[in-house]
Amino acid sequence: MSLLPALTGSFSTPAVDNPTVAMMEAAYAHHGIDARYVNCDVAAADLPDAVRGATAMGWIGFNCSLPHKVAVIELLDELAESARLIGAVNCAVRGDGGWIGENTDGQGFLGSLRILTEPAGQRVLILGAGGAARAIAVELALAGAAELWVANRNLAKAAEIADLVNAETSSTCTAVEWRQELTVPASANVVVNATSLGLPGSGVVPLSFDVIPMGLVVCDVIPNPPDTEFLQRARQAGARTLDGRGMLLNQGAINIQLWTGVDPDREVMGRALDQAIAG
Ligand code: NDP
Repeated sequence: MSLLPALTGSFSTPAVDNPTVAMMEAAYAHHGIDARYVNCDVAAADLPDAVRGATAMGWIGFNCSLPHKVAVIELLDELAESARLIGAVNCAVRGDGGWIGENTDGQGFLGSLRILTEPAGQRVLILGAGGAARAIAVELALAGAAELWVANRNLAKAAEIADLVNAETSSTCTAVEWRQELTVPASANVVVNATSLGLPGSGVVPLSFDVIPMGLVVCDVIPNPPDTEFLQRARQAGARTLDGRGMLLNQGAINIQLWTGVDPDREVMGRALDQAIAG
C-alpha cells in the first residue's frame, strides 16, 4: 500500500452494521490493489457534501445504500443504462466526464442466480416492489427472462415495475396484489423474496409452499443472517435455495471491477464477508 492509496467507500445511514468494507478491503489486499474502502455514515441532508468531498479528494468510486440510492442521481453526471431503467444508483464510478451512476444490485443477484440456473427463459415470481425488486426485475428482463410476476402489498408500485419491464424489454411482466398468502404460479421456475420481510422479528413471508412446481429455485435477498426462515421453509418443501449473501458478494465484486478493472477473487471476498457477518 502506498502513502496515497486510491479511495473508495460507502455512503449510507445507518452504516454501523455494513459488512461490505471487510470484503472490499480483503479483495484489495489479495490483488495488491493500492486502494482503501471507507464505510461512511452520511445523513440524507449531507449527501451533496459527501459527493462534493469525494470529488475534491479524488475518490475513484463510491457505493450508495439506503437512503441515498435515488437522491444521489441528481448529484451525478451520467447514468448507465440499467441505472436509468431501475431509477436508482448503488455504485458511482469516476469517469473522464465526472461521476457515472451504475446499479449493480440486480447484476449481483444475476451473478448469484447463475450458480444454480441461467436467467434466460425463466418464469420468475418476485415478491416486493421496492428498490431491490425493481433492480432484480430489470436485470432479469434484460437477461432474457420469459415472464415475471411482481407481487406487492402496494399494487401501484408493482404496476410501475410491470409497465417499465413491458415497455423497455422483451419480457412479459404482470403486477399482482399481495394482501394474503400467495401461491407460486404453476409455471414459475424461480421465486425471489425481495421484500425486507424475513429479517429476524419482521414476520413470516406470506407465500405458501404447500404445492410448488418441480425444480423450483427459491431466493432471498437478505444477506444477514443468510439462511432465512423463508429459505428453510422452501428447502423443506423440496426447492433449491439461494441466499442474499451471494448477491451482496457479487455486487461488491462488480463494483471493484468497475472502479479498478480487476475481476476480484470471490472466494477471498466471501471468507472476509462471512467473518464480518459472524463477528
Ligand atoms: P424498500 O424499502 O425499497 O422495499 C421494501 C419492500 O418490502 C416493499 O416492496 C415493501 O412493500 C415490502 N415490505 C416491507 N414490509 C412488508 C410487510 N410487512 N409485508 C409485505 N411487504 C412488505 O427496500 P429495498 O428494496 O431497498 O430492500 C429490500 C430488502 O433487500 C432489504 O432487506 C435489503 O437489506 C435487501 N437488499 C439486499 C441486497 C443484497 O446485496 N443482498 C441489496 C439491496 C437490498 P410495500 O411497497 O407494500 O411497502
